[in-house]
Amino acid sequence: MITILVATQNRFKAAEISRLLGDTDVRVLTLADVAPSLEIPETGVTFAENARLKAVAAAQATGYLTLADDSGLAVDALEGAPGVYSKRFADSDPARNARVLAGLRGVPWDRRTARFHCAVVIADATGVRAEIEETAAGHITDAPRGDDGFGYDPIFQPDGETRTMAEMTMDEKNVLSHRGKAFRAAAAWLRAWAG
Ligand code: IMP
Repeated sequence: MITILVATQNRFKAAEISRLLGDTDVRVLTLADVAPSLEIPETGVTFAENARLKAVAAAQATGYLTLADDSGLAVDALEGAPGVYSKRFADSDPARNARVLAGLRGVPWDRRTARFHCAVVIADATGVRAEIEETAAGHITDAPRGDDGFGYDPIFQPDGETRTMAEMTMDEKNVLSHRGKAFRAAAAWLRAWAG
């Protein structure tokens, strides 16, 4: 059994990540379990940089093999916004989606391209051990559709799909999502690392 610390204070992330790691025999801890007062500022300008900052700081503070992820949406016609500011783009999911849609008003379908990114970094007390970045490409719809998922899911239609991510089940989304792909790669790395 592998024990891995996830560099977040959010306990719900442990359950999500255990599920994404699939049948890998892994015990997932969060900072809430082992370092409840550790706050790591996300000052990076790329997803990979933020994931690296969090993984290295938490591994150095605790000594655990640590995984950190950072994800978000980059819209081509908005020069990559909201990008690493995805969470901070507005005060609520509907407001964030409305802000993206307002920025794309009048922009035709073929220029509404966007990409979700997910960077995952695994570090130990000696530094970075693995870096993974995966994307899911698609288009921003004209209006939100669907009630499942979270964040920008209702306005993101993945390539090859007629539905938005919010119209898919969690399992369908995980097959093609940036996070699903990145965590399958992380699971493979952990299995190889554990021998
Ligand atoms: P985090 O780094 O995983 O916390 O993601 C940062 C922000 O990016 C989230 O608060 C969402 O707004 C957005 N985001 C990341 N992944 C997704 C996704 O799969 N669907 C919708 N929004 C996402």
